[in-house]
Amino acid sequence: MSKTFKIGIVGVGPRGLAALESLYVAKKHLGIQQPVHVLLFEASPYPGAGQIWSPDQVATNLSNVHERNLSNNLAGREALSFDEVYLPQFPGYQEWLELNEGEASGEQDHFPSRSKIGSYLNERFETLRQALIGAGLVELYQHEVVQIETEASGCTIVTKAGDYYKVDEVVLTIGHQPTYDSDQLSEWDAHAKKHSLKLYKDPYPVGALETDAITPETKIALRGFGLSMVDQVRALSIGFGGEFVPVSNSIEFEYKPSTEAPRELVAFSLNGLPPVPKPFSEEIDAWFKPTPEENKLLIEAMQTAEANASEIKDASFLIEAIAQITSSVYQRLQARARTTDLSLEQLSALTLQLIKNPGHEHTLLVSHNTEPLEAMELYLKMACGKTKISLDYCLGQVWRFALSVLYHDYTYMNLGDDAMVDVVKYIEASKRYSYGPPVKSVQQLIALVKAEVLNLDFVKDPEIQLIKEGWRLTKGVQSVDVDVMVNSVIDAPQLKAVSSSLVEHLREDKRVDAVSYKLGLHTLEDGRIISQGGNTHQHIALLGRLAKGSVVGVDDLIECFGKPARKWAEGVLKRV
Ligand SMILES: Cc1cc2nc3c(=O)[nH]c(=O)nc-3n(C[C@H](O)[C@H](O)[C@H](O)COP(=O)(O)OP(=O)(O)OC[C@H]3O[C@@H](n4cnc5c(N)ncnc54)[C@H](O)[C@@H]3O)c2cc1C
Repeated sequence: MSKTFKIGIVGVGPRGLAALESLYVAKKHLGIQQPVHVLLFEASPYPGAGQIWSPDQVATNLSNVHERNLSNNLAGREALSFDEVYLPQFPGYQEWLELNEGEASGEQDHFPSRSKIGSYLNERFETLRQALIGAGLVELYQHEVVQIETEASGCTIVTKAGDYYKVDEVVLTIGHQPTYDSDQLSEWDAHAKKHSLKLYKDPYPVGALETDAITPETKIALRGFGLSMVDQVRALSIGFGGEFVPVSNSIEFEYKPSTEAPRELVAFSLNGLPPVPKPFSEEIDAWFKPTPEENKLLIEAMQTAEANASEIKDASFLIEAIAQITSSVYQRLQARARTTDLSLEQLSALTLQLIKNPGHEHTLLVSHNTEPLEAMELYLKMACGKTKISLDYCLGQVWRFALSVLYHDYTYMNLGDDAMVDVVKYIEASKRYSYGPPVKSVQQLIALVKAEVLNLDFVKDPEIQLIKEGWRLTKGVQSVDVDVMVNSVIDAPQLKAVSSSLVEHLREDKRVDAVSYKLGLHTLEDGRIISQGGNTHQHIALLGRLAKGSVVGVDDLIECFGKPARKWAEGVLKRV
């Protein structure tokens, strides 16, 4: 019998699960006879779900991907048999949902809790693990990995407990990694320690906020005005017994606070711009869907760029295609959109201007100077089809559709660093819309503002002073003192900012190299890491968030089960 090939998968969140599944699919399809034994390392209690999708987090944490999308795009696992091993099938999300909850009803898109999706992922992992353990093909170590030593013929994986494991190949699917505190957070940390104040540095788990330390009198500031802030605000309202009830004949909700819930939350961010909700239903969503011809335009732009990679220095090829598609989609909206007599070319030029300068002013755009409450009300109405659509809202939805094409087929763009940095810059800028929250979240934020619980008077870049009672936020002549500070900003996947031992070791050994100073590390399409000297380390690969810059699609659950995991699995088995 040939030697058993040993593979380590470090980090078993969704991507580690997808890597494990892909490995056995590839083994079967490539007809690999050699036995493959996998060592799994996951620091958290629910492999498959990992920390972000943990089934035991508070139910108020919602996913920003709706069930329709999950049902259409999160496919199941087929049954596989090889040698004497049988790996059972596992249903796709839709079938699983129907088995557990019956047919969905209602036209509104439903955004499940992250814990529910976590149960799906963890069950999916467990069924595979049981079968593989039964066949003696897998071992699971629920330990943190602190170091990988690459050697001529393989790698040694070192855990925090000091155990060593030798493997032939390893893939890091470690997702979100801890980062060093920014200067501001370090300063606040020292301040909080000195005066015994409460500073929540980590946005998650938000359940940490639901403690006795928070009373109705506690004034809380939230640093950030995006998706994590919405989870935190929900924890600080619903988590304390508050309720949101629909207002009759309106798309708005009313907030009914409990006696325990904090009465004042103060949100702030650098630009003060509110998150923009996704369309309410499948029907409204379809208004923004590019036609197959328009998608072809995007695909051709990508293919031409890849074929001429050495000449591509920025993201013009991408944003020009997006602008062109948006202008057609906007024209198709007709009376649903804000009125314009601009020609298609002029609309496209305006969209391009908007992409390059999101603060651009025009009657077709929602001005950045609009009061945040008014802007949220306006976008809520657009999401529900109750007011004319603005060009910026339309652009954001077109970006969302375009990203699903990019993440599916072009997540690894073989372009130079400058072009990749530019591409990622524009994708990030689109996220206020393309990664927008559910309609329900914006309804809740509006209700909290109207109930005078969520204070947006300081939302745009307030001056922040440290006082012994806490923090003083000042905007113009107004100021407010808060005694608790909650950080809701999740750090970007910047290689140099990551503080985990595992990545620090890779960096110290100069075995990794960042795509410009802002982004993640350099990899090949199959995930193998490229070192500072330009060498490919044969035995170590990385998939996901920390490869941002080499790939573009890293913050999306569905993408985890896509091409990169498949490419890695095929690559690794071809080297067996
Ligand atoms: C707060 C938050 C909310 C999000 N919400 C959504 C959403 O609603 N929809 C969406 O599509 N995407 C969302 N995302 C994006 C998310 O990145 C992906 O959905 C997905 O979780 C990525 O999977 P992953 O396996 O690559 O990384 P992760 O989910 O981060 O999993 C990595 C796993 O590796 C483990 N690990 C890390 N380091 C080590 C180590 N040294 N040793 C052992 N184990 C280790 C971790 O414990 C973790 O379980 C969200 C991200 C965050 C941070």
